Amino acid sequence: METKREFLKKLGLLTVGGMLGGTLKTAQASTAKSNLFPPKKSIGLQLYSLGRELTEDVPGGLKKVARIGYATAEAAGYRERKMYNYEITEFRKLAEDAGLKVSGSHVNPPVRKYTKENAGEIADFWKTTVEDHAKLGVISLVQPGMPTIESHDDAAMVCEVFNKAGEIAKAAGIKWGYHNHSGEFKRVVKEEDKEKQRNPWMPVGDVIYDLLLEGTDPSLVFFEMDVYWTVMGQNDPLEYFEKFAGRFPILHIKDRSVLGKSGMMNFENIFNKAYEIGLDEFYVELENIRENITQFEGVKQCFDYLNNATFVK
Ligand code: MG
Repeated sequence: METKREFLKKLGLLTVGGMLGGTLKTAQASTAKSNLFPPKKSIGLQLYSLGRELTEDVPGGLKKVARIGYATAEAAGYRERKMYNYEITEFRKLAEDAGLKVSGSHVNPPVRKYTKENAGEIADFWKTTVEDHAKLGVISLVQPGMPTIESHDDAAMVCEVFNKAGEIAKAAGIKWGYHNHSGEFKRVVKEEDKEKQRNPWMPVGDVIYDLLLEGTDPSLVFFEMDVYWTVMGQNDPLEYFEKFAGRFPILHIKDRSVLGKSGMMNFENIFNKAYEIGLDEFYVELENIRENITQFEGVKQCFDYLNNATFVK
């Protein structure tokens, strides 16, 4: 069997004179090692997490994100065909120079209530948005805002619009998805079922999120589940992973504040199940920091939490 000494010798961590001793030298050796072997985990960040700390200095901010160790980023700054006020190609170069891959982007269409009349306008919006995002080189394009859904008819109309958006994106080689908050876990009730509602503990009707999952074409629309908002909607992410396996290739990993601090989220179970059913990517999201730290510090703590977690591959 190889001794520890022989092993260290192979790694070049052993000097001719003997073992490296003392904490300082050990620290130097481990620093050297981490430079040789950068973090293997591909951890993404939803840039919305940084708020003004990013928008005040976009080039510097992107570099900071990469320096923390994040490999990918999901943008949230597409307005008037620009990204964070930069031309799309210019922004792409800023990210690339920083060593960050912008793999996704959050964009909302200009209207909340979808109708037969405005479906064409929404489709046109997605056409230009997809065109711009093809230049940015993203893998996914995601709508994070919930359209108005107060009935089964509304839900069916939304599914139609989502399928169309997915079709437009797919033609450009981009995956189109929808990101939830907690409102999607409310129910819509058909007129004839309303009288069946006897008490709030025995709900009737259908959960909006389920209607969206069932009414959209899996080859056109994926679901970027925000696991925190799913829990806030009093639902279990694992039940959805099981029931709609294959629909959640990308996740938002979020907690009440810095990841892992609230005790509300069982990230180990979430990751285990997500890997089992297929997980391509995930983005950290951080809002409402309760600790007295900057957004960048919070985002760093989230990265460290996942990078040190044995359940994150
Ligand atoms: Mg989210």
